[in-house]
Amino acid sequence: MIQVSCYNCGSRDRAPYATENGCNLVKCASCGLLYVNPRPSDEEIEEGVKLGAHTGERTLHSTGRYTVTKVAMYHKILRDIYGTELQNREQTWLDVGCGHGELLAALQEVSRNKVAVRGIEPNRLKIDAARKRGLDVDYFDLGFHDALYDSISLLNVYSHLTNPREFLRLVKQRLSPKGELLLETGDTASLPANLHPRPFLLPDHLSFCSEQILTNMLKETDFEIISVNKYPPLKLRFMKERILREVVKLALPHKRSQIPMMYSWFRVAKYRTDTWIRARVVTSVGSADKASRLSASEETRNGFSSAR
Ligand SMILES: [Zn+2]
Repeated sequence: MIQVSCYNCGSRDRAPYATENGCNLVKCASCGLLYVNPRPSDEEIEEGVKLGAHTGERTLHSTGRYTVTKVAMYHKILRDIYGTELQNREQTWLDVGCGHGELLAALQEVSRNKVAVRGIEPNRLKIDAARKRGLDVDYFDLGFHDALYDSISLLNVYSHLTNPREFLRLVKQRLSPKGELLLETGDTASLPANLHPRPFLLPDHLSFCSEQILTNMLKETDFEIISVNKYPPLKLRFMKERILREVVKLALPHKRSQIPMMYSWFRVAKYRTDTWIRARVVTSVGSADKASRLSASEETRNGFSSAR
């Protein structure tokens, strides 16, 4: 474990916020970001995301499985954000941290296969599962990747990043001129600790931001915000079957039910913390950007995982 400063503003001024799984979550006194300190080393994080297991006091398994209801949920959200735009032009799309490939499947549906989808995923089991469904999923380092994409998505990736600003610069370099980013994460940094959805899933999740922190960071990285859509963390219409399953598990002594976790999501449903930001690259590649490109390629590794 290593001592770190705020992942957003670099300040070391912070206050304790919560503890979980032997990890401390602190709140930056300067910008309000919640982040894990001390955090696992880069090597531990990289190994953890490849295996889908993150070691704290107990090992956290994050592989999960392909979820059909998640495809339906993404389908609806893509329609909210893009309307019929995705059906109207052919484009390339890279989903970073694509998990089992639910967003890729939803994009194919919504765009009627106009969008050529590709996914990056570090977890070997998830890669195998996605490939079995015929999806183009692989693992490679964005810093050493040459292709440009019309759109790149980062869903449930932000919280896994050790250096989000550098990672966004790296993503920007892989976007074609006027290329777009679709980023989803929780807007929870402003919630009091007793209302924050639990478990935090530390140390798989390393930081939690707010809409304001994230939109500022995107603007500073030369993205313009196109839209911000917010949803409750628990999307009831897509969760009925799962809730029923978890209620049944409560009665089975050898099964661990996720009802307590879902209850904590219910409590914050009114805050609509699930935040989807659509943004577009605004600047052309100039000399200043070339310098940051070099530094990002040299210093930034993929460093993400996915709970999808
Ligand atoms: Zn900060």
